[in-house]
This record gives sequence, structure tokens and C-alpha cells, in this order.
Amino acid sequence: MKYISTRGASPELPFEDCVLAGLAPDGGLYVPQYVPELTMPEISAMQSLSYPELAYNIISRFTGETIAPDALKKIIDESYKTFRHAAVAPLKQLDSQTYLLELFHGETLAFKDFALQFLGRLLDHILEKRKKKVVIIGATSGDTGSAAIAGCRGRRNMDIFIMYPHGRVSDVQRLQMTSVLDENVHNIALDGTFDDCQDIVKSLFADESFRSKHNLTAVNSINWARIVAQVVYYFYAALQLGAPAKTINFSVPTGNFGDIYAGYIAKKMGLPIGQLIIATNRNDILARTLKTGIYEIAGVEPSLSPSMDIQVSSNFERLLFDLHDRDGAAITHMMAGFRKDKKLELSGRALARLRAEFAAARADDAETKSTIKKCYEETGELLDPHTAVGLCAGNKARKHNKSTLVVLATAHPAKFPVAVEEACNIHPALPAHLEDLFKRKEKFARLNNETAAIKKFIEENI
Ligand SMILES: *Cc1c(COP(=O)(O)O)cnc(C)c1O
Repeated sequence: MKYISTRGASPELPFEDCVLAGLAPDGGLYVPQYVPELTMPEISAMQSLSYPELAYNIISRFTGETIAPDALKKIIDESYKTFRHAAVAPLKQLDSQTYLLELFHGETLAFKDFALQFLGRLLDHILEKRKKKVVIIGATSGDTGSAAIAGCRGRRNMDIFIMYPHGRVSDVQRLQMTSVLDENVHNIALDGTFDDCQDIVKSLFADESFRSKHNLTAVNSINWARIVAQVVYYFYAALQLGAPAKTINFSVPTGNFGDIYAGYIAKKMGLPIGQLIIATNRNDILARTLKTGIYEIAGVEPSLSPSMDIQVSSNFERLLFDLHDRDGAAITHMMAGFRKDKKLELSGRALARLRAEFAAARADDAETKSTIKKCYEETGELLDPHTAVGLCAGNKARKHNKSTLVVLATAHPAKFPVAVEEACNIHPALPAHLEDLFKRKEKFARLNNETAAIKKFIEENI
């Protein structure tokens, strides 16, 4: 199994190298040359597997020869052992045909733990084999940073530097990062905005000599290993609800299009998924694209579901590649135009294909709150605001309510207590492993919004 770039101008790579590279040198994203297809009997035979067994079964189809089976098993076992629920990704029934897939039982209470616990261990394994070390750099507005730190803390072959905008992340999000005291973890509270953090990361990566001197690496959502880890829970949920004999629909709170793209891969592998619903908040570039065929940037507006407040969805390029018959030259041309004009118009054929694979709906802040309230009153379940967007948009877009709908519950309500409290007057409690979070010691450096200051800090702390 080899990986190719969506822009068609980079050499193909085996799995391990594509994990190390992140972005392809031609600016594209790596995708597998083909998606392995499973037969109905093969899928049925997965029904009795535990979460880690299923994860091994699926992920090993994408790793090719590169990682020894025992090593991969160990990485997977250890990754999902950190989850605080025996089922790892339990389903909770809301009504006769609607379920929540709880993806928030990991260390940092969001679904990103599924990918980043795996990626941290996987990277460490690859680096150990190659006797290499890397420096991971990332900017975060909250969830990604803490999940990346949790996945990389204490690993021998990496240092991780995470920048967040000082005073602009929630207390829980900050503490989940700054209370990690391992020597290889470095938090930077930047005097600036999230965009400033991202600009600095970009300029560090653009500095060829700094980049190669320290082996800079990113663990952002375009890394293929993150996608592949997320494919697993679509299978896990669907199998429990009667697949492959039954077709299951999913509603996915969407930002960078990573999580829902994993669902699309599961469908291409043969899992009988009916509707795949893109659920967005008011930052609805994807929902608009489905409606109008025009993928166009609008300014980011803050919402109650901040992890979905994005301007563009970086993983969408992977889907565009398929919608255009995997023509890398066409994607290069389209993305250059998009960069220049801030918009991109899909051909009639590409739009028809997009609409055949996905549905979309949006939920604004008022709908997000009323969904939290209604769900609590009717079922006793507290939803986090991202999950509420998923449920609200899922109900708008589902064809009829006799079909089974699984809503991905992407974060624990206690991660976003203010929104939950505003919606239904209940303060969601942190789970036991984080009860003392507010009493923990913190470690971070407060730095000016200057690339030179950040470079100096990195060199002094590796
Ligand atoms: C990151 C995140 C999302 C969006 O996921 P994408 O893969 O970027 O689409 C949704 N909900 C929560 C809680 C998140 O942290």
C-alpha cells in the first residue's frame, strides 16, 4: 500500500514516510493509492471484535508491510487502554432510532484522543526504528493542543511545542495543556490571537534551515494516520447496530473535514453507510458548498462550538481529489485558483457526486442551545455544544426518522461548561480523572508575538 499526493507531483511513499511527512512536498495531502474493499462476510466477521481488535483489523490494511504486526498491536492496545470506558466508544440510545456515539472517554475528553493517542505512539515507534528525533510544533485554539500533548507526553524521540492565544482558550482547555509537566512538553501562551499562533507556525515551517535542523513535524488533522484511526469507530458503531445487514446513517459535527472524511473512507471500504451528514455551525462553508456548488471563504465568526469555527476545511481537498477522478493536475490548478480568489466553483458533475455522497445542514447558536435543553429534558443526557450541532443538523437532514441515525458525540459536556449551563442551567461535572484539574500545577511560557522570540525559546528548550 503506497500513498500519493492529491496534487500529483510528489513521489509515492509507504505508510511510515507519509506519517512522518504530514503534508506532501507539492503542497497536497497524502491519500492511499486505493481504498481496500471488504466483502459483506468479512465485515460480518468483525462483529465480535473488541475495539482494539477491530482497530488492528482496519488499520493494518493501510500500513502495508511497514510496521510489524506485533508492534502495531501493541501501539493500538496501549492507545485505547487510556480510555475510561470499557467499550472505548460506547453507544447511547436517545430514542427508538437515534444514538450518540460517545467519543469523549479519552484523556482530554474529545474525539481527537482517538487519533492522537495512536499517532503519538506510532511516531515514537517509527522514530525509534530510524534513530531520529523530531520537534512537533502546533498552534491550537483548544482541543487539538491538549490531545496532541496527551499523545506525545513522555515519548523519547520528540519534543512538543504548542502555542495557544493567551487568555483566549477556556480554563479547562488551558489546564489540560499546562498541567502536563513532562520535560518534552512545552506550552507557549502567545500574546496574540489564534491566527497569530498559526502564522508563527507557518513561518517556522517556511524557514527551511530551521525546519531541517530540528526536524520540525506537525500532527495536524491532515496527517493520514489520524484519519485511519477515525475510520475504526464508524465500523464499531455500525456493527453494533446491525451492519452490514442494516444501513446506518451518521451525523458528524464538522470543522476541518477530518472526522467525516474518515466516515467516507469507511463507506468506500464497504460499510453500509446511508447518509453521511455534514453538521456545521454558523461557519458553514461546507453546507453552503453542497447547496450552491461554490466553495467560498467567509470570515470566521465565533460560536458556541469553537472547535468547528474554521474558515476552510483542509481535508476537503482529499474529497475534491476523488470528485475529480483523482486528477492531481486538476486539483493543483483548482487550489491555486482558490488561493487567489478565495473561492472555487465545482463543475456540475463534481457537485452531483458530492451530493450523492453527503448531506449537510447547519445549526446556529440558538439552535445549539435549544437542542441541548430539549435533549436534556427528554432523555436526561447532557450534550456538549459540538454534539448538539450534530444532533440538530442530523435531524434536519435525515430523510425520515425511521432510519437509524448515529450522532458523533465529539466532546464531553464538561469541556464546554459555559454553553451547557447557558442552555439548561446545569453545570456539567468533570469526570473523576480530571476532578482535581483546577488544583494542578501549571507550566507554560508567556511569549511575545514574534517569530524570533519563539525560535529562541524552542532552541533553548529542546
Ligand atoms: C476538532 C473537533 C471537531 C471537528 O472535527 P474535524 O475533524 O475538524 O471536522 C468537532 N468537535 C470537536 C469537539 C472537536 O474538537
